[in-house]
Amino acid sequence: MSRSTPPSCYILGNRVDSLTLAGAVARVKEFVRAGTPHHVVTLNAEIAYRAYGEPQLQAVINRAHLVTADGAGILWAARRLGHPLPERVTGIDLLQALAAAGAGEGWRFYLYGAAPGVAAQAAAHLQREHPGLVVAGTSHGYLGPDAMPLLLAEIRAAQPHILLVGLGAPKQEYWIASYLEELQVPVAMGVGGSFDVLAGVARRAPAWVQRLNLEWLYRVVKEPKRVKRIMALPKFMIAVWQEARRQG
Ligand code: UDP
Repeated sequence: MSRSTPPSCYILGNRVDSLTLAGAVARVKEFVRAGTPHHVVTLNAEIAYRAYGEPQLQAVINRAHLVTADGAGILWAARRLGHPLPERVTGIDLLQALAAAGAGEGWRFYLYGAAPGVAAQAAAHLQREHPGLVVAGTSHGYLGPDAMPLLLAEIRAAQPHILLVGLGAPKQEYWIASYLEELQVPVAMGVGGSFDVLAGVARRAPAWVQRLNLEWLYRVVKEPKRVKRIMALPKFMIAVWQEARRQG
C-alpha cells in the first residue's frame, strides 16, 4: 500500500474507501504509474449484502485496491455506522472521469463485456466524447470457457492501462480476481451495464431522478426483472441497522 492509502470504513464486513470522484481518479493515476495489477470495485448495496453472506465475494472485495461507494445505499449505511463518506462514486461516473483523464495521459483502454457489438459502440462513444482516447481493443461478454485463453492472450497483447469489465456484478469481480495477475494490467475495473448506457442500448435515469437518489427505482420500472435484485435493499438496511445497534 502506498503512503496515500485513503481511510476506509467497513459495511457488513465490506471495505469501502473514503474518496471523492476526483480522489478516486487520483488513486487510479497512482495505480497506472505503479504499473502493477490493481483491482477497482464500485460497490453498491445489493452486492455488499450478497458479499455479507458470500465470504468468497467479500474476500475479493476486501482484497481490491480501491472500493468506491456506488450508490445512495452505501452512503446511507456509512452514515448510519458513523463513518460518513464524501460522495457517491458510481461505476459509470468513474469510467467517464477515467476516460477524460486517460485521453490526456495517453492511456490505453480495453473494453470487455456486454452483448456483441456493444463494447465497440461504447468505445466509439467514449472516443467521440474524449478526443485522443486510445482504445486498445474490445470484446463482447458472452465468450464460453473455451474462448477464454484466446481472450486473455488478446488482452495481454493489447497492453491496456485500463481494463473495463462489463459482465455485471459479481461475475465481473470474480473474473477480475481470477485473471488480474495473469493479465498484468495496471487497472481492472468492473463497470456493470455501463457499456449498454454508453452505446445507447440502455438509458441512464434523468439527472433529477439521480439527484433524488431514485436511480434504482427508475431501473426497476424500466427492467421489471430487477425487482428480485432490489429486494436485497431492505435486507441490506436491516442488516446495517443491526450492525449499528451492535456497535452501540
Ligand atoms: N453481461 C455479459 N456477460 C454475461 C452476463 C452479462 O457481458 O455473461 C453483460 C450484460 O450484457 C450487461 C452487463 O453485463 O451489459 C450487466 O449489466 P447489469 O446492468 O445487469 O449490471 P449491474 O450494473 O447491475 O452490475
